[in-house]
Amino acid sequence: PVRVRFCPSPTGNPHVGLVRTALFNWAYARHEKGTLVLRIEDTDAARDSEESYEQLLDSLRWLGLDWDEGPEVGGPHTPYRQSQRMDIYADVADKLRAAGHAYPCYCTTEELDARRDAARAAGKPSGYDGHCRDLTDERKAAYEAEGRTPITRFRMPDGPITFTDLVRGELTFTPENVPDYGIVRANGAPLYTLVNPVDDALMGITHVLRGEDLLSSTPRQIALYQALIGLGLAEAVPAFGHLPYVMGEGNKKLSKRDPQSSLNLYRERGFLPEGLLNYLSLLGWSFSADQDVFSIDQMVAAFDIADVNANPARFDLKKAESINADHIRLLDVKTFAEACEPWLRAPHAPWAPEDFDRTAWEAIAPHAQTRLTVLSDITANVDFLFLKEPVADEASWQKAMKEGSDALLRTARAKLADADWSSPESLKGAVLAAGEEHGLKLGKAQAPVRVAVTGRTVGLPLFESLEVLGKDRALARIDAALV
Ligand code: GLU
Repeated sequence: PVRVRFCPSPTGNPHVGLVRTALFNWAYARHEKGTLVLRIEDTDAARDSEESYEQLLDSLRWLGLDWDEGPEVGGPHTPYRQSQRMDIYADVADKLRAAGHAYPCYCTTEELDARRDAARAAGKPSGYDGHCRDLTDERKAAYEAEGRTPITRFRMPDGPITFTDLVRGELTFTPENVPDYGIVRANGAPLYTLVNPVDDALMGITHVLRGEDLLSSTPRQIALYQALIGLGLAEAVPAFGHLPYVMGEGNKKLSKRDPQSSLNLYRERGFLPEGLLNYLSLLGWSFSADQDVFSIDQMVAAFDIADVNANPARFDLKKAESINADHIRLLDVKTFAEACEPWLRAPHAPWAPEDFDRTAWEAIAPHAQTRLTVLSDITANVDFLFLKEPVADEASWQKAMKEGSDALLRTARAKLADADWSSPESLKGAVLAAGEEHGLKLGKAQAPVRVAVTGRTVGLPLFESLEVLGKDRALARIDAALV
Protein backbone atom coordinates (compact mmCIF):
# COMPACT_ATOMS: atom_id res chain seq x y z
CA PRO A 1 0.00 0.00 0.00
CA VAL A 2 1.11 3.51 -0.84
CA ARG A 3 2.44 5.59 2.05
CA VAL A 4 3.41 9.15 1.21
CA ARG A 5 4.42 12.00 3.43
CA PHE A 6 4.24 15.75 3.56
CA CYS A 7 6.98 16.99 5.84
CA PRO A 8 7.19 20.75 6.05
CA SER A 9 9.55 22.68 8.25
CA PRO A 10 7.63 25.25 10.28
CA THR A 11 9.57 28.32 9.20
CA GLY A 12 7.68 31.41 8.10
CA ASN A 13 4.34 31.54 6.32
CA PRO A 14 3.13 28.68 4.17
CA HIS A 15 3.75 29.38 0.48
CA VAL A 16 2.18 28.08 -2.70
CA GLY A 17 5.10 25.79 -3.58
CA LEU A 18 4.65 24.02 -0.28
CA VAL A 19 0.92 23.71 -0.87
CA ARG A 20 1.53 22.26 -4.34
CA THR A 21 3.76 19.57 -2.78
CA ALA A 22 1.16 18.85 -0.10
CA LEU A 23 -1.58 18.67 -2.72
CA PHE A 24 0.26 16.22 -4.99
CA ASN A 25 1.07 13.94 -2.06
CA TRP A 26 -2.48 14.15 -0.80
CA ALA A 27 -4.00 13.52 -4.23
CA TYR A 28 -1.69 10.57 -4.80
CA ALA A 29 -2.54 9.08 -1.42
CA ARG A 30 -6.26 9.52 -2.03
CA HIS A 31 -6.08 8.21 -5.58
CA GLU A 32 -4.20 5.12 -4.44
CA LYS A 33 -6.32 4.73 -1.30
CA GLY A 34 -3.04 4.95 0.55
CA THR A 35 -1.89 6.85 3.61
CA LEU A 36 -0.70 10.43 3.90
CA VAL A 37 1.66 11.05 6.79
CA LEU A 38 2.12 14.59 8.03
CA ARG A 39 5.51 14.98 9.68
CA ILE A 40 6.81 18.21 11.07
CA GLU A 41 10.52 18.71 10.40
CA ASP A 42 11.25 21.04 13.27
CA THR A 43 14.82 20.15 14.19
CA ASP A 44 16.13 23.63 13.53
CA ALA A 45 15.22 25.46 16.72
CA ALA A 46 16.69 28.71 15.45
CA ARG A 47 14.36 28.86 12.45
CA ASP A 48 11.28 26.91 13.48
CA SER A 49 8.41 28.47 15.36
CA GLU A 50 5.29 27.26 17.09
CA GLU A 51 3.32 29.99 15.38
CA SER A 52 4.38 28.72 12.00
CA TYR A 53 3.49 25.16 13.03
CA GLU A 54 -0.02 26.25 14.03
CA GLN A 55 -0.37 28.13 10.79
CA LEU A 56 0.66 25.11 8.75
CA LEU A 57 -1.97 22.90 10.33
CA ASP A 58 -4.58 25.60 10.03
CA SER A 59 -3.74 26.13 6.35
CA LEU A 60 -3.99 22.42 5.56
CA ARG A 61 -7.35 22.28 7.30
CA TRP A 62 -8.60 25.31 5.42
CA LEU A 63 -7.54 23.71 2.15
CA GLY A 64 -9.20 20.45 3.10
CA LEU A 65 -5.94 18.49 2.76
CA ASP A 66 -6.41 16.00 5.56
CA TRP A 67 -3.75 13.58 6.80
CA ASP A 68 -4.08 10.04 8.08
CA GLU A 69 -1.15 10.02 10.46
CA GLY A 70 0.52 12.95 12.11
CA PRO A 71 0.08 15.66 14.68
CA GLU A 72 -3.35 15.76 16.28
CA VAL A 73 -4.50 12.55 14.60
CA GLY A 74 -1.73 10.28 15.91
CA GLY A 75 -0.78 6.97 14.30
CA PRO A 76 1.58 4.03 14.72
CA HIS A 77 4.75 6.12 14.42
CA THR A 78 4.05 8.75 17.07
CA PRO A 79 5.46 11.32 17.65
CA TYR A 80 5.28 13.02 14.25
CA ARG A 81 7.23 16.11 15.23
CA GLN A 82 10.93 15.58 14.73
CA SER A 83 11.79 17.78 17.69
CA GLN A 84 10.26 15.00 19.82
CA ARG A 85 12.21 12.20 18.13
CA MET A 86 15.76 13.15 19.07
CA ASP A 87 16.46 9.89 20.93
CA ILE A 88 15.60 7.93 17.81
CA TYR A 89 18.09 9.89 15.70
CA ALA A 90 20.84 9.58 18.29
CA ASP A 91 20.30 5.84 18.35
CA VAL A 92 20.36 5.48 14.56
CA ALA A 93 23.48 7.65 14.34
CA ASP A 94 25.19 5.36 16.87
CA LYS A 95 24.28 2.32 14.81
CA LEU A 96 25.55 3.92 11.61
CA ARG A 97 28.86 4.80 13.28
CA ALA A 98 29.21 1.35 14.82
CA ALA A 99 28.66 -0.30 11.45
CA GLY A 100 31.20 1.97 9.75
CA HIS A 101 28.60 3.76 7.60
CA ALA A 102 29.47 6.98 9.32
CA TYR A 103 32.64 8.34 10.84
CA PRO A 104 33.81 11.24 12.98
CA CYS A 105 35.18 14.12 10.94
CA TYR A 106 37.49 16.54 12.74
CA CYS A 107 38.07 19.01 9.92
CA THR A 108 37.44 22.61 10.87
CA THR A 109 35.51 24.96 8.61
CA GLU A 110 38.74 26.83 7.84
CA GLU A 111 40.50 23.63 6.82
CA LEU A 112 37.59 22.56 4.67
CA ASP A 113 37.40 25.96 3.00
CA ALA A 114 41.11 26.05 2.29
CA ARG A 115 41.10 22.59 0.72
CA ARG A 116 37.97 23.37 -1.27
CA ASP A 117 39.54 26.52 -2.69
CA ALA A 118 42.69 24.64 -3.59
CA ALA A 119 40.69 21.90 -5.32
CA ARG A 120 38.71 24.50 -7.26
CA ALA A 121 41.88 26.25 -8.33
CA ALA A 122 43.21 22.93 -9.57
CA GLY A 123 39.98 22.23 -11.44
CA LYS A 124 39.19 19.23 -9.24
CA PRO A 125 35.86 18.30 -7.60
CA SER A 126 35.46 20.63 -4.65
CA GLY A 127 33.23 18.59 -2.35
CA TYR A 128 34.44 16.93 0.83
CA ASP A 129 37.71 15.15 0.03
CA GLY A 130 37.42 12.21 2.39
CA HIS A 131 40.14 13.51 4.70
CA CYS A 132 38.78 11.82 7.84
CA ARG A 133 37.34 8.72 6.17
CA ASP A 134 39.92 6.29 7.46
CA LEU A 135 41.62 7.91 10.42
CA THR A 136 43.57 5.61 12.71
CA ASP A 137 42.62 5.49 16.37
CA GLU A 138 45.84 7.35 17.17
CA ARG A 139 44.98 10.17 14.78
CA LYS A 140 41.50 10.44 16.25
CA ALA A 141 42.93 10.53 19.76
CA ALA A 142 45.35 13.25 18.71
CA TYR A 143 42.55 15.38 17.29
CA GLU A 144 40.54 14.86 20.46
CA ALA A 145 43.56 15.89 22.51
CA GLU A 146 43.66 19.12 20.48
CA GLY A 147 40.16 19.76 21.78
CA ARG A 148 38.38 19.15 18.47
CA THR A 149 34.83 17.78 18.61
CA PRO A 150 33.93 15.87 15.48
CA ILE A 151 30.83 16.04 13.36
CA THR A 152 29.50 12.74 12.05
CA ARG A 153 29.88 12.22 8.35
CA PHE A 154 28.11 9.62 6.24
CA ARG A 155 30.39 7.43 4.11
CA MET A 156 29.07 7.39 0.55
CA PRO A 157 29.53 4.15 -1.38
CA ASP A 158 32.25 4.15 -4.05
CA GLY A 159 30.07 3.48 -7.08
CA PRO A 160 27.53 5.67 -8.85
CA ILE A 161 23.94 5.86 -7.67
CA THR A 162 21.19 5.35 -10.18
CA PHE A 163 17.49 5.59 -9.62
CA THR A 164 14.38 6.07 -11.68
CA ASP A 165 12.70 9.31 -10.80
CA LEU A 166 8.94 9.02 -11.17
CA VAL A 167 8.86 12.34 -12.98
CA ARG A 168 12.26 12.56 -14.68
CA GLY A 169 13.13 8.96 -15.51
CA GLU A 170 16.50 7.38 -14.89
CA LEU A 171 19.11 9.56 -13.19
CA THR A 172 22.70 8.71 -12.28
CA PHE A 173 24.91 10.51 -9.78
CA THR A 174 28.62 9.81 -9.80
CA PRO A 175 30.67 9.72 -6.56
CA GLU A 176 32.57 12.96 -7.41
CA ASN A 177 29.24 14.74 -7.29
CA VAL A 178 28.03 13.19 -4.08
CA PRO A 179 30.78 13.41 -1.47
CA ASP A 180 30.50 12.19 2.11
CA TYR A 181 28.19 14.52 4.01
CA GLY A 182 27.49 15.58 7.56
CA ILE A 183 24.60 13.95 9.40
CA VAL A 184 25.22 15.06 13.01
CA ARG A 185 26.68 18.38 14.15
CA ALA A 186 29.58 18.62 16.57
CA ASN A 187 27.11 19.50 19.31
CA GLY A 188 25.17 16.31 18.66
CA ALA A 189 22.28 17.90 16.79
CA PRO A 190 21.10 15.66 13.93
CA LEU A 191 20.76 17.27 10.50
CA TYR A 192 18.02 17.17 7.88
CA THR A 193 20.26 14.81 5.90
CA LEU A 194 19.81 12.20 8.62
CA VAL A 195 16.41 12.76 10.13
CA ASN A 196 14.48 13.02 6.89
CA PRO A 197 15.47 9.63 5.40
CA VAL A 198 15.53 7.96 8.82
CA ASP A 199 11.92 8.93 9.42
CA ASP A 200 10.93 8.01 5.88
CA ALA A 201 12.42 4.59 6.59
CA LEU A 202 10.93 4.12 10.04
CA MET A 203 7.54 5.37 8.89
CA GLY A 204 7.47 2.98 5.94
CA ILE A 205 7.21 5.68 3.27
CA THR A 206 6.87 4.14 -0.20
CA HIS A 207 6.90 7.28 -2.38
CA VAL A 208 8.74 10.54 -1.82
CA LEU A 209 7.15 13.34 -3.84
CA ARG A 210 8.84 16.67 -3.31
CA GLY A 211 10.24 19.71 -5.03
CA GLU A 212 13.04 19.60 -7.55
CA ASP A 213 15.21 21.70 -5.24
CA LEU A 214 15.73 18.55 -3.16
CA LEU A 215 16.89 16.39 -6.06
CA SER A 216 20.56 16.71 -5.09
CA SER A 217 19.88 15.21 -1.68
CA THR A 218 18.28 12.11 -3.19
CA PRO A 219 21.45 10.09 -3.97
CA ARG A 220 22.66 10.72 -0.42
CA GLN A 221 19.37 9.60 0.99
CA ILE A 222 19.32 6.49 -1.16
CA ALA A 223 22.79 5.56 0.11
CA LEU A 224 21.71 6.16 3.67
CA TYR A 225 18.60 4.08 3.07
CA GLN A 226 20.74 1.23 1.81
CA ALA A 227 22.78 1.42 4.99
CA LEU A 228 19.57 1.36 7.04
CA ILE A 229 18.36 -1.67 5.12
CA GLY A 230 21.64 -3.39 5.99
CA LEU A 231 21.02 -2.59 9.63
CA GLY A 232 17.47 -3.94 9.46
CA LEU A 233 16.02 -0.46 10.03
CA ALA A 234 14.43 -0.06 6.62
CA GLU A 235 12.75 -2.40 4.20
CA ALA A 236 13.14 -0.90 0.77
CA VAL A 237 14.29 2.34 -0.81
CA PRO A 238 11.19 4.40 -1.62
CA ALA A 239 10.41 5.65 -5.10
CA PHE A 240 11.28 9.32 -5.62
CA GLY A 241 9.47 11.85 -7.76
CA HIS A 242 10.66 15.44 -8.00
CA LEU A 243 8.04 18.03 -8.82
CA PRO A 244 9.08 20.80 -11.22
CA TYR A 245 10.13 24.26 -10.14
CA VAL A 246 7.49 26.94 -10.00
CA MET A 247 8.61 30.07 -11.84
CA GLY A 248 7.40 33.55 -10.97
CA GLU A 249 7.90 36.98 -12.52
CA GLY A 250 10.69 37.37 -15.03
CA ASN A 251 11.11 33.60 -15.29
CA LYS A 252 12.83 33.42 -11.91
CA LYS A 253 12.03 30.73 -9.40
CA LEU A 254 9.09 31.80 -7.28
CA SER A 255 10.65 32.51 -3.94
CA LYS A 256 9.24 32.50 -0.45
CA ARG A 257 9.87 36.22 -0.31
CA ASP A 258 7.76 36.84 -3.38
CA PRO A 259 4.43 38.26 -2.15
CA GLN A 260 2.60 36.20 -4.79
CA SER A 261 3.80 33.05 -3.12
CA SER A 262 2.16 33.60 0.26
CA LEU A 263 -0.77 31.29 0.91
CA ASN A 264 -2.25 33.76 3.39
CA LEU A 265 -2.61 36.28 0.63
CA TYR A 266 -4.94 33.99 -1.30
CA ARG A 267 -6.89 33.17 1.78
CA GLU A 268 -7.31 36.81 2.73
CA ARG A 269 -8.35 37.77 -0.77
CA GLY A 270 -11.08 35.17 -0.66
CA PHE A 271 -9.88 32.44 -2.94
CA LEU A 272 -11.99 29.35 -2.51
CA PRO A 273 -9.83 26.42 -1.34
CA GLU A 274 -11.10 24.39 -4.29
CA GLY A 275 -10.25 27.21 -6.71
CA LEU A 276 -6.73 27.57 -5.37
CA LEU A 277 -6.11 23.82 -5.30
CA ASN A 278 -7.44 23.50 -8.84
CA TYR A 279 -4.99 26.14 -9.97
CA LEU A 280 -2.03 24.74 -8.03
CA SER A 281 -2.67 21.27 -9.41
CA LEU A 282 -1.89 22.68 -12.85
CA LEU A 283 1.65 23.56 -11.77
CA GLY A 284 3.24 20.47 -13.25
CA TRP A 285 0.15 18.43 -13.99
CA SER A 286 -2.88 18.68 -16.20
CA PHE A 287 -6.33 17.23 -15.92
CA SER A 288 -6.99 17.09 -19.63
CA ALA A 289 -5.94 18.97 -22.73
CA ASP A 290 -9.16 20.95 -22.92
CA GLN A 291 -10.34 21.30 -19.34
CA ASP A 292 -8.67 23.51 -16.77
CA VAL A 293 -11.50 23.74 -14.27
CA PHE A 294 -12.42 20.67 -12.27
CA SER A 295 -13.36 19.60 -8.79
CA ILE A 296 -10.96 18.20 -6.25
CA ASP A 297 -12.74 14.83 -6.54
CA GLN A 298 -12.15 14.84 -10.26
CA MET A 299 -8.50 15.61 -9.64
CA VAL A 300 -8.16 12.74 -7.18
CA ALA A 301 -9.78 10.34 -9.61
CA ALA A 302 -7.45 11.38 -12.42
CA PHE A 303 -4.20 12.03 -10.57
CA ASP A 304 -1.15 9.93 -11.34
CA ILE A 305 2.40 10.88 -10.49
CA ALA A 306 3.53 9.46 -13.85
CA ASP A 307 1.64 12.31 -15.55
CA VAL A 308 3.59 15.01 -13.75
CA ASN A 309 5.62 17.09 -16.17
CA ALA A 310 9.30 17.70 -15.50
CA ASN A 311 9.37 21.15 -17.12
CA PRO A 312 9.26 24.21 -14.90
CA ALA A 313 5.74 25.46 -14.32
CA ARG A 314 4.88 29.14 -14.61
CA PHE A 315 2.89 30.75 -11.84
CA ASP A 316 0.20 32.85 -13.43
CA LEU A 317 -1.88 34.94 -11.04
CA LYS A 318 -4.40 35.93 -13.71
CA LYS A 319 -5.09 32.31 -14.48
CA ALA A 320 -5.40 31.49 -10.78
CA GLU A 321 -7.97 34.25 -10.47
CA SER A 322 -9.90 33.16 -13.50
CA ILE A 323 -10.06 29.57 -12.25
CA ASN A 324 -11.16 30.81 -8.86
CA ALA A 325 -13.89 32.89 -10.52
CA ASP A 326 -15.12 29.77 -12.30
CA HIS A 327 -15.30 27.93 -8.98
CA ILE A 328 -17.29 30.79 -7.47
CA ARG A 329 -19.82 30.38 -10.32
CA LEU A 330 -20.06 26.67 -9.61
CA LEU A 331 -21.27 27.09 -6.03
CA ASP A 332 -24.94 26.95 -5.30
CA VAL A 333 -26.07 30.42 -4.36
CA LYS A 334 -26.63 29.57 -0.70
CA THR A 335 -23.08 28.26 -0.32
CA PHE A 336 -21.81 31.31 -2.12
CA ALA A 337 -23.72 33.62 0.20
CA GLU A 338 -22.30 31.83 3.23
CA ALA A 339 -18.76 31.82 1.88
CA CYS A 340 -18.95 35.61 1.56
CA GLU A 341 -20.02 36.16 5.14
CA PRO A 342 -16.56 36.87 6.60
CA TRP A 343 -16.26 39.81 4.21
CA LEU A 344 -19.65 41.11 5.23
CA ARG A 345 -18.56 41.51 8.84
CA ALA A 346 -15.90 43.46 10.68
CA PRO A 347 -13.01 43.88 10.24
CA HIS A 348 -13.58 43.65 6.47
CA ALA A 349 -16.93 45.39 6.39
CA PRO A 350 -17.03 49.10 7.23
CA TRP A 351 -20.69 49.11 8.30
CA ALA A 352 -22.14 48.47 11.73
CA PRO A 353 -23.31 44.89 12.31
CA GLU A 354 -26.89 46.03 12.84
CA ASP A 355 -26.88 47.71 9.44
CA PHE A 356 -26.33 44.42 7.68
CA ASP A 357 -29.62 43.38 6.07
CA ARG A 358 -29.81 39.68 5.32
CA THR A 359 -32.82 39.97 3.03
CA ALA A 360 -31.03 42.54 0.91
CA TRP A 361 -27.90 40.39 0.87
CA GLU A 362 -29.78 37.31 -0.29
CA ALA A 363 -31.47 39.36 -2.99
CA ILE A 364 -28.22 40.75 -4.37
CA ALA A 365 -26.05 37.64 -3.89
CA PRO A 366 -26.99 35.94 -7.18
CA HIS A 367 -25.92 39.05 -9.09
CA ALA A 368 -22.63 39.17 -7.23
CA GLN A 369 -21.91 35.48 -7.73
CA THR A 370 -21.66 35.80 -11.48
CA ARG A 371 -19.20 38.66 -11.24
CA LEU A 372 -16.71 38.13 -8.42
CA THR A 373 -13.15 36.93 -8.98
CA VAL A 374 -12.31 36.65 -5.30
CA LEU A 375 -14.70 36.76 -2.38
CA SER A 376 -13.10 39.79 -0.76
CA ASP A 377 -14.40 41.89 -3.65
CA ILE A 378 -17.88 41.46 -2.22
CA THR A 379 -17.42 44.16 0.42
CA ALA A 380 -17.04 47.04 -2.00
CA ASN A 381 -19.67 45.61 -4.30
CA VAL A 382 -22.45 45.65 -1.74
CA ASP A 383 -21.42 48.38 0.68
CA PHE A 384 -24.01 50.73 -0.88
CA LEU A 385 -26.68 48.50 0.66
CA PHE A 386 -25.41 48.60 4.22
CA LEU A 387 -23.69 51.94 4.64
CA LYS A 388 -25.93 54.81 5.63
CA GLU A 389 -24.31 56.96 2.95
CA PRO A 390 -22.63 55.56 -0.16
CA VAL A 391 -18.84 55.72 -0.02
CA ALA A 392 -17.59 59.01 -1.36
CA ASP A 393 -15.16 57.86 -4.04
CA GLU A 394 -13.69 61.10 -5.35
CA ALA A 395 -12.31 59.61 -8.57
CA SER A 396 -15.65 57.99 -9.46
CA TRP A 397 -17.46 61.18 -8.74
CA GLN A 398 -15.23 63.23 -11.02
CA LYS A 399 -15.43 60.68 -13.76
CA ALA A 400 -19.21 60.41 -13.82
CA MET A 401 -20.38 63.86 -12.85
CA LYS A 402 -19.76 65.97 -15.90
CA GLU A 403 -21.40 69.06 -17.20
CA GLY A 404 -25.03 68.23 -17.79
CA SER A 405 -25.08 65.44 -15.22
CA ASP A 406 -27.19 67.51 -12.93
CA ALA A 407 -29.86 68.05 -15.53
CA LEU A 408 -29.81 64.40 -16.43
CA LEU A 409 -30.05 63.31 -12.81
CA ARG A 410 -33.06 65.55 -12.32
CA THR A 411 -34.86 64.00 -15.26
CA ALA A 412 -33.86 60.49 -14.19
CA ARG A 413 -35.03 61.18 -10.65
CA ALA A 414 -38.44 62.27 -11.92
CA LYS A 415 -38.85 59.26 -14.17
CA LEU A 416 -37.55 56.82 -11.53
CA ALA A 417 -40.09 58.23 -9.08
CA ASP A 418 -42.83 57.03 -11.43
CA ALA A 419 -41.26 53.68 -12.27
CA ASP A 420 -42.17 50.26 -10.96
CA TRP A 421 -39.54 49.48 -8.29
CA SER A 422 -40.23 45.80 -8.31
CA SER A 423 -39.02 45.60 -11.90
CA PRO A 424 -35.40 46.28 -12.91
CA GLU A 425 -36.67 46.55 -16.48
CA SER A 426 -38.94 49.41 -15.52
CA LEU A 427 -36.06 51.17 -13.71
CA LYS A 428 -33.90 50.72 -16.75
CA GLY A 429 -36.66 52.14 -18.93
CA ALA A 430 -36.75 55.24 -16.74
CA VAL A 431 -33.02 55.91 -17.03
CA LEU A 432 -33.06 55.09 -20.73
CA ALA A 433 -35.84 57.59 -21.32
CA ALA A 434 -34.03 60.24 -19.27
CA GLY A 435 -30.91 59.67 -21.34
CA GLU A 436 -32.86 60.08 -24.57
CA GLU A 437 -34.12 63.46 -23.46
CA HIS A 438 -30.53 64.58 -22.99
CA GLY A 439 -29.10 62.88 -26.04
CA LEU A 440 -27.25 60.23 -24.01
CA LYS A 441 -27.02 56.51 -24.53
CA LEU A 442 -27.87 54.24 -21.61
CA GLY A 443 -24.25 53.71 -20.60
CA LYS A 444 -23.60 57.43 -20.27
CA ALA A 445 -26.95 58.14 -18.69
CA GLN A 446 -26.65 55.53 -15.98
CA ALA A 447 -23.17 56.56 -14.82
CA PRO A 448 -24.28 59.58 -12.73
CA VAL A 449 -27.17 57.54 -11.30
CA ARG A 450 -24.79 54.78 -10.30
CA VAL A 451 -22.35 57.14 -8.65
CA ALA A 452 -25.10 59.01 -6.83
CA VAL A 453 -26.55 55.79 -5.46
CA THR A 454 -23.51 53.54 -4.93
CA GLY A 455 -20.66 56.05 -4.83
CA ARG A 456 -18.75 54.18 -7.54
CA THR A 457 -18.59 54.03 -11.33
CA VAL A 458 -18.41 50.25 -11.43
CA GLY A 459 -20.33 47.62 -9.57
CA LEU A 460 -23.11 45.12 -9.75
CA PRO A 461 -25.86 45.54 -12.38
CA LEU A 462 -27.38 48.94 -11.63
CA PHE A 463 -31.08 48.27 -11.94
CA GLU A 464 -31.00 45.16 -9.79
CA SER A 465 -28.98 47.15 -7.28
CA LEU A 466 -31.57 49.93 -7.27
CA GLU A 467 -34.37 47.45 -6.77
CA VAL A 468 -32.66 45.87 -3.77
CA LEU A 469 -31.72 49.23 -2.25
CA GLY A 470 -35.34 50.34 -2.53
CA LYS A 471 -37.07 53.39 -3.88
CA ASP A 472 -36.89 55.65 -0.83
CA ARG A 473 -33.19 55.23 -0.14
CA ALA A 474 -32.23 55.40 -3.81
CA LEU A 475 -34.19 58.58 -4.52
CA ALA A 476 -32.88 60.19 -1.34
CA ARG A 477 -29.33 59.55 -2.54
CA ILE A 478 -30.05 61.10 -5.93
CA ASP A 479 -31.51 64.11 -4.12
CA ALA A 480 -28.41 64.36 -1.96
CA ALA A 481 -26.24 64.32 -5.10
CA LEU A 482 -28.28 67.14 -6.58
CA VAL A 483 -27.86 69.75 -3.88
N1 GLU B 1 11.45 19.58 5.59
C1 GLU B 1 11.90 19.55 4.23
C2 GLU B 1 11.51 20.83 3.57
O1 GLU B 1 10.57 21.48 4.00
C3 GLU B 1 11.27 18.36 3.54
C4 GLU B 1 11.98 17.95 2.33
C5 GLU B 1 11.49 16.62 1.81
O2 GLU B 1 10.34 16.54 1.37
O3 GLU B 1 12.24 15.68 1.85
O4 GLU B 1 12.13 21.25 2.61
